Amino acid sequence: VSRFESVTMAPPDPILGVSEAFKADTSDVKLNLGVGAYRTEELQPYVLNVVRKAENLMLERGENKEYLPIEGLAAFNKVTADLLFGANNPVIQQGRVATVQSLSGTGSLRLAAAFIQRYFPDAKVLISSPTWGNHKNIFNDARVPWSEYRYYDPRTVGLDFDGMLADIKAAPDGSFVLLHGCAHNPTGIDPTPEQWNKIADVIQEKNHIPFFDVAYQGFASGSLDTDAYSVRLFVERGLELLVAQSYSKNLGLYAERIGAINVVCSSSDAAARVKSQLKRLARPMYSNPPVHGARIVANVVGDPTLFNEWKQEMELMAGRIKNVRQRLFDYLSQKDKSGKDWSFILKQIGMFSFTGLNKAQSDHMTNKWRVYMTKDGRISLAGLSLSNCEYLADAIMDSFH
Ligand code: PMP
Repeated sequence: VSRFESVTMAPPDPILGVSEAFKADTSDVKLNLGVGAYRTEELQPYVLNVVRKAENLMLERGENKEYLPIEGLAAFNKVTADLLFGANNPVIQQGRVATVQSLSGTGSLRLAAAFIQRYFPDAKVLISSPTWGNHKNIFNDARVPWSEYRYYDPRTVGLDFDGMLADIKAAPDGSFVLLHGCAHNPTGIDPTPEQWNKIADVIQEKNHIPFFDVAYQGFASGSLDTDAYSVRLFVERGLELLVAQSYSKNLGLYAERIGAINVVCSSSDAAARVKSQLKRLARPMYSNPPVHGARIVANVVGDPTLFNEWKQEMELMAGRIKNVRQRLFDYLSQKDKSGKDWSFILKQIGMFSFTGLNKAQSDHMTNKWRVYMTKDGRISLAGLSLSNCEYLADAIMDSFH
């Protein structure tokens, strides 16, 4: 008998479990719209040309594999903060940002959660309802209490802005408010610039601390600056805040686990102290971060030629998703004789579309049509090609019968 008899079987992950089920399916026709990973029109994984070029440079230079410092690669930390806030931002020039390279978006969120747990043990984190499936796990595992604020309005398949503001207002003063910097996952619904301003008003009024999760910079609009709008607005208003960054999507570096946690402080002195404590938290968890992805980002973002090429490739990726979004909308509008307005699909931003399908309908999509998707009705448009849009539209229509 095993010493691990008391260990029960864990349920499959609601997102990554979808990919496992997809792989196990032997059907000829099947679609994986579960995980948010960019695919080409041929539905193949895509390594960006700029990434290949940076890797060739790295190989030529024959760089070593020595440990990085706990806070990561200095060149990476510099460019990642510049990219997020803008290199001329006063918070950068005044040394008020504590930036620590971490294990992509997830690891950066987890490190920040550990920081919150240690230094703000009485604070809770407000998260949007719905949100990316892993947010709750991250705060649960870090023993940080959380509650939800309204975000999605099923009647309009749009933003419940009044509900959102009311819930942020009703939370205890000094709460952390987790916000998706752009391309909200899973809904694809972002506040407008005016709405961001009002959200900032309420957060400021309540002395809350904004905590941005930026996993799609450049992927929402195709422009890195446009997608940093919300973060920069809050910074401009003089707020102290946290930002977790990820290069999984915008540079396609999913498996390299490259990202950062940035804490904007009101003084350079506070930033130095915060950074020292982030390092102290990271050391016993994973010691120091991996170097390969950090070097790629430092090379691409730090080199004007590669940086421009990256922007073009990102526009290409964002553009392909927009085309697929349009094609799917066209088919749904054509095929649906009920008069339902599908235009919400066009209004959504980023990799995903939140279809409004419920769990039973999502199950039907998978069981009958072999369309793999998360049970909340989210589909990744990055996993769809123009030639599959009609098939998907048929499956969606069928799930209403
Ligand atoms: N936050 C959000 C909202 C995401 O969608 C993702 C990726 N699915 C992440 C964070 C983190 O991903 P990663 O750890 O691969 O950077």
